Parts: sequence; C-alpha cells; structure tokens
Amino acid sequence: MTNPVAATFDLLGDRLTLTILRHAFTHRARRFNQWMEWTGAPPAMLAARLNALVDGGVLIRVPREGGAERYEYRLTELGLATWEILVCVWAWQREWTAEGAVLPELVHGECGHRGPPMIMCRGCGRTVTTHETAVELSQDALWHIASGRRRSSRAGGAGRDEVRFEEVMQAIGDRWSASVTGLALAGVRRFGEFREALRMSPTTLTERLSRLCEAGMLRRDEDSAEYRLTPRGRGLFGVFAFLLAWSELAHPEVDESGLRIRHLDCGEVLAPALRCRGCEARLGRTEVRFEPLPRGLAGQRD
Ligand SMILES: [Zn+2]
Ligand SMILES: [Zn+2]
Repeated sequence: MTNPVAATFDLLGDRLTLTILRHAFTHRARRFNQWMEWTGAPPAMLAARLNALVDGGVLIRVPREGGAERYEYRLTELGLATWEILVCVWAWQREWTAEGAVLPELVHGECGHRGPPMIMCRGCGRTVTTHETAVELSQDALWHIASGRRRSSRAGGAGRDEVRFEEVMQAIGDRWSASVTGLALAGVRRFGEFREALRMSPTTLTERLSRLCEAGMLRRDEDSAEYRLTPRGRGLFGVFAFLLAWSELAHPEVDESGLRIRHLDCGEVLAPALRCRGCEARLGRTEVRFEPLPRGLAGQRD
C-alpha cells in the first residue's frame, strides 16, 4: 500500500496541479477549456493532471449539457479541503518570492484584515509556530516516502502560469526534496543523520542538500558542517502541516502514516487551522477572498 504522505506529495507536489486547483478556487474553473486558457498547459498534460485529481478524489467529473464539452470538473469535499494548503503556499510566495509583490491579497471578509493568516492548533486553540512543535517520523515510513516513484515536477511543458509555483516546488516538488525538507523541519541537521534516515547515496544526498541550499531553504554552517533551515525554509511549515493533515483526510483507511507534527504546548498531534491575524478568528474557506492588488501598489512593494 502506498504511504498516504507519499501519495499526497505525488499528487499535489506538482506545479500544474496546484495551478489547476488555484483556478478552481479563484476563478471557479470547471471546464477543460477554461483551464487550457488560463494555464496555457499542453492539452495532454492538462488531461493527465485532471484525471489524476479525479482518481485522487479531489475532483469529480460531472456530465454537462450543451456546449462542446461533455463534462465539467467540480471540487469534491476532499478537493475543497485543499484550500488551506493553497493559502499557505500563497502566504509563503507572498513573503519569500519576488513575485509575491504582485499576488492577490487574502482578505478576511468579517473584519477586513488583509494579509497572510497564522496557524492555530484546533486541539487547544493556541497559535502555533514551528518552535512549539515537534515533527515525529518513523524510519520505515520515511523510507517509503522517499523511495518509490519519482516524478520530476521540473519536466518541461510548463504553462505560463505555473512559473509561480517554481520556487515552492524546489522544496515539495518531489518526494526526495520533500523528505529532506521534512527532516530539516524535524530538527535534523547533520549529513549523517539525513543519510541514515533516507538511506540515500551520499552523492544523491549531497545533490539534494546543495539544491535546497541554492534555493535558499537550507544553509550550511561551515564550522559545524550542519544544515539549518533558513527563515525562508522554515516558512514552509504551514504548507507541510496542511499537506500532512490533508493526507490523513484523503486516506482515512490508514491509521498511521509514520509522519506527524505534535503541538508541544498541548501534547496533541497537530490538527492545523488558519487564524486571522486581524481579529484572531478561525478562518473558514468561504470567509476569505483574494483581491488583486491595486495597480499602482503592485509595483511599490519590493
Ligand atoms: Zn495545541
Ligand atoms: Zn479577521
């Protein structure tokens, strides 16, 4: 049986897939031609991703009357539950990438607050940062996650819109990188520890680690030879937390994925939720919207 976390990274750790979902949420895209138009992706590739999302229970194919297309695709409950992952990806892009300056702004309808949310623990209701959590993982699970199918999300044919997800994909776009980033979030710092956990050849591991260093996610300390997460890498915590939570939702039949985040303040396994920085309310999907930045403002932010 495939590990749920591995299956989640395989399905969602993909630029075009995230682009498809983003358009489904923000533009209510439902038809093949709409995604074609908005993503500029090659038709065969788009069809393959839509099929994978249907197989993964994220989209459902619904017969359609009239028009040239026989079906439309709607988000299922499971599909709708990816919204927090997308918000965390957006928040990270907003803060850590150059294109963040031109991304639409998240607005909480209730209080009008604009900007990235915080993460809270649903168990105890407190706000959570990486420092109050521990990533727990089993060696076996990690091995399953890191091995197996390796699809490169960097393969060509990217549509024009997908470039937005280029940078985040350096950390979550394939199982290896996701595992290395996950271990780093778990506090692993030494080459030998990464190697032992991932059972990876030194050459491959060196290559992954330097790629993450080049991407600004990790930094190698020359004196101690340790790899530490940069603030940019640590900023991916929310993306990971919601990906893990979603993988449990998507695979209720599996008791134990072997990888989880514990909230140290309350001792519970972290069930994350988004919280407004303005009014501190827990955010529901229908209570937030994305607003394009006014034109003049978009250029000012560095
Ligand atoms: Zn808690
Ligand atoms: Zn608010």
